[in-house]
Amino acid sequence: MTAKIIDGKLIAAKVRQEVKDKTAELLASKGVHPGLAAVLVGDNPASHTYVKMKRKACAEVGIESFGFDLPQDASQSQVESLVQELNARPDIHGILVQLPLPAHLDEEKVLAAVGLNKDVDGFHPLNAGRLAQKGREPDFVPATPAGVIRLLEETGVQFSGANAVVLGRSNIVGMPVAMLLVRNDCTVTICHSRTKNLPEVIRGADILVAAVGRAQMVKGDWIKPGAVVIDVGTNRINDSSAKDGSRLVGDVDFESAVEVAGAITPVPGGVGPMTIAMLLVNTLRAAEMSLKKG
Ligand code: NDP
Repeated sequence: MTAKIIDGKLIAAKVRQEVKDKTAELLASKGVHPGLAAVLVGDNPASHTYVKMKRKACAEVGIESFGFDLPQDASQSQVESLVQELNARPDIHGILVQLPLPAHLDEEKVLAAVGLNKDVDGFHPLNAGRLAQKGREPDFVPATPAGVIRLLEETGVQFSGANAVVLGRSNIVGMPVAMLLVRNDCTVTICHSRTKNLPEVIRGADILVAAVGRAQMVKGDWIKPGAVVIDVGTNRINDSSAKDGSRLVGDVDFESAVEVAGAITPVPGGVGPMTIAMLLVNTLRAAEMSLKKG
């Protein structure tokens, strides 16, 4: 059997078009132009690239983006004051603080300073807490996990009662993905570096979400035939046949997994494009919410 390839680029393009149409409508009907502030502290090249990609995506759908760069040695109070200033600006509906922050900064405090109504990354502890509680609704859900769920929905997955395994327990991917799957009535197992008999646990998964950051770790014979596999991992490996001597791969060994899974996301072209698309969805939502809250 060869798995269906879940085309994240195509699905993300559809999501971006939806955002573009609704953004134009919001501007025309209410005069509100959604605005996103990107706070970047320091000189991490990958973070610079991500912020650039996010701002470009904003421009393409008619969302205004504002960049705020602080130096590597910015103090805690400098970063928090900037966030407070942005909280007060009516032209800014969403604030993203690009992670990771330099090690001397208290990430939790910075994220808690972001106004709940502008928390488009969904990393504010109150939104994260609500996501983990039954009967509570977060205002925003983190973009990558939201993108994972949208990919599963678009693939026509039967969530209710499915055994889902989430590989990884980070705050930005693993844990929120697991919470969202529980909310969708899956029976969820969360795996991490101390999990025993990992291949055996994974073999029980109807839905597998891999977010470990270990190149091609999950092998085809760990996967239940017909399972739906979402590979969040983004790892660069050497490849002498590639133009720059390297290429991106996921946490799943695609070549062997594609022979067993029912559906699978490629890397690149799977989860990656969805992350940015869902950030745009959240920014539009923040702008719409600003109207309701007067
Ligand atoms: P983290 O490093 O924060 O978390 C990795 C998780 O994997 C941890 O919970 C860790 O366990 C677990 N883990 C590590 N090694 C093993 C192992 N050998 N066996 C089992 N579990 C293991 O990573 P992130 O969640 O931030 O990111 C995961 C991957 O997703 C990365 O490749 C990252 O680049 C990618 N990513 C992609 C995005 C996209 O848009 N496509 C967005 C965000 C991330 P423990 O907790 O015990 O340490």
